[in-house]
Amino acid sequence: MNGQEVTHTWRNYPALQQPTYEDPQHVHRVVTELRTRPPLVFAGEVDSLLDSLGRAANGDAFVLTGGDCAETFIESTADRLRLKIQTILQMAVVLTYGASTPVIKMGRMAGQYAKPRSSDIETRGDVSLPSYRGDAVNDYEFSAQARRANPDRLLDMYNRSGSSLNLIRAFTQGGYADLRRVHEWNKGFLTNPSYKRYDTLAQHIDKAMKFMAAAGTDFEALRTVNFYSSHEALLLEYESAMTRIDSRSGDIYDTSAHFLWIGERTRDPNGAHVEFLSHVLNPVGVKIGPGASPDDVKALIDKLNPEGIPGRLTLITRMGAGNIRSSLPALVDAVNADGRPVVWVSDPMHGNTINSETGYKTRHFDTIMDEVEGFFEVLQGHDAVPGGIHIELTGDDVTEVMGGAEHIDDDALRRRYETKVDPRLNHQQSLEMAFQVAELLERSGQNNGPESVDAQPRFNF
Ligand code: PEP
Ligand code: MN
Repeated sequence: MNGQEVTHTWRNYPALQQPTYEDPQHVHRVVTELRTRPPLVFAGEVDSLLDSLGRAANGDAFVLTGGDCAETFIESTADRLRLKIQTILQMAVVLTYGASTPVIKMGRMAGQYAKPRSSDIETRGDVSLPSYRGDAVNDYEFSAQARRANPDRLLDMYNRSGSSLNLIRAFTQGGYADLRRVHEWNKGFLTNPSYKRYDTLAQHIDKAMKFMAAAGTDFEALRTVNFYSSHEALLLEYESAMTRIDSRSGDIYDTSAHFLWIGERTRDPNGAHVEFLSHVLNPVGVKIGPGASPDDVKALIDKLNPEGIPGRLTLITRMGAGNIRSSLPALVDAVNADGRPVVWVSDPMHGNTINSETGYKTRHFDTIMDEVEGFFEVLQGHDAVPGGIHIELTGDDVTEVMGGAEHIDDDALRRRYETKVDPRLNHQQSLEMAFQVAELLERSGQNNGPESVDAQPRFNF
């Protein structure tokens, strides 16, 4: 199959948010090259994620997705990746231990390099240039040369994704994620309430470990953890070029990541993105904003999960704290009436973006938590399951989101505001959120005991 396009029907549908390249031959050369490259993820891994997500659909596991709004090539360094993985693992520990729920861990990582934009053009003063669409497309610098869409960046995306995945695999399969190291991951000062709370929890886990060791547990199983990659499947030339036919089953997989999602701007059931993902076996997500109708959601299920396979379709709500309680109920009722399972996941970030008085694009921690609480309320009040959260975060001590235990205010935003696109929770705000979500889960009694979410005999925290 090398060199040929595996699935092409998407080309007959309107594809929004695609870069405008000057030279189609150049794109063709890059895509032909990509089709010869080895897959980044493997069918067996994707299948085991699908299986785990099937459990999240009925409350037997909880999804935690975290990472940058937009990864950049220059920041895909070992240190930055390690801090992000560590943050997600710490959040997973808090959620698992606090709520006795197996957690499916996923990074918006190793491929989150393309962004949809509300405008094709960015204007500064009297200069207008193409918008930055992520490192997979063009460069952030505000010059005509930098903002030109360059197809070679798709090869860079592949290479960066591959090296990031290699590091993720090393960390999560090589002993770094060993539960016995939970204490070492705590890097903050214990005067901070989140770090203090985490430290106490790590002590409890240490104690439980010692007990298990004394009881003769096989600790080999604790050394590794499943960690999945995900990104927005935005650039269809790239995603299509990364699609492969599994030699064993004959099934089609998009091998650019384990999980792919479609954004709020490209989720038209009659558009190219939905058409493309309808042909691959990976579990897929769709972002759902406040404008989505029950018919829209039904049409997405018809197209993306016609057979009702558990775990195949995740609906990621991003309504805004002010809308979630009024806009979500009708959608949940429609999905329940339809009967085909979905995983409901809350993205409490994208509906809550504001501009600070000091001119920064930001979000407030309390508003974010309010949307998560509204999400839990609606789903639990409508006979459905809150299946997970999808968060923009970083492992660094940035100051991009207001509030939290450090009380980041308008003025503090300028201290360390680094994001190229959307504001992210910093390390301690991420932990704080995990503790609060663990409480919501605990209160809901969504408690599944110690059973592992994976087929493999692993201890899944
Ligand atoms: C995102 O996840 O960064 C994003 C752009 O989300 P949405 O499509 O929900 O706006
Ligand atoms: Mn974003």
